[in-house]
Amino acid sequence: MLAESLFIVFLGAPGAGKGTQAKLLEKELGLLQISTGDIFRKNLQEESELGLLAKSYMDKGELVPDGVTVAMVKERLSHADCAKGALLDGFPRTVAQAEALADLLADLGKRVALTLYLKVPDEILLQRLSGRWICRNCGAVYHTLFSPPKVAGVCDLCGGELYQRPDDKVETAQNRLRVYFEQTAPVIEYYDRLGLLREIDGTQSIEEVHHALLTAIGEVDCQ
Ligand code: AMP
Repeated sequence: MLAESLFIVFLGAPGAGKGTQAKLLEKELGLLQISTGDIFRKNLQEESELGLLAKSYMDKGELVPDGVTVAMVKERLSHADCAKGALLDGFPRTVAQAEALADLLADLGKRVALTLYLKVPDEILLQRLSGRWICRNCGAVYHTLFSPPKVAGVCDLCGGELYQRPDDKVETAQNRLRVYFEQTAPVIEYYDRLGLLREIDGTQSIEEVHHALLTAIGEVDCQ
């Protein structure tokens, strides 16, 4: 990867595989995965003011207000570990956030190089979300049907305890998908108009999607 900096946005509905794929690429590309959902969950665990504010929205499957989210991302991107770029997972989720991101990066003399859109049909998304279990310790993701752990409730990789995200339960997951189609789908058009969008079939296996993403990233012009 020769680009001076590489900011890549992952787009796709909840359950499309953004987090799984960003984690795989993180190691391979040496770029940090920045997941706004993970940052909110960490704040919630620590019972910070931001975490408690975010909880009221997350519990309902709604988006945390743009001002709060953008300020949090601005702070995160100012760290030295983002100087070479980042894999943005779950941000931007509204057109206003996408515009704010462009401004934030412009202030740093940088820009979004590419957006990777993982496309998955609606009926598959709900099935994926409702069977998802995550390791409390290392964040590894399992699925009761597609990739179950060897021992129920225990992480194959580190032995940590597996849990189901409260917002993956059916009613909240349905609302998250509704919010996605209303507020986040326009972000796909936004990046398409800028010529930055690459669409990937997210129904393929994890390895196939990973390979397709690497190919798309390899085609990016160096900055
Ligand atoms: P995720 O882990 O990406 O599915 O995010 C979980 C929840 O965190 C979402 O349902 C939102 O409530 C909140 N959240 C995460 N990212 C954003 C964002 N970019 N804008 C607003 N809310 C967000």
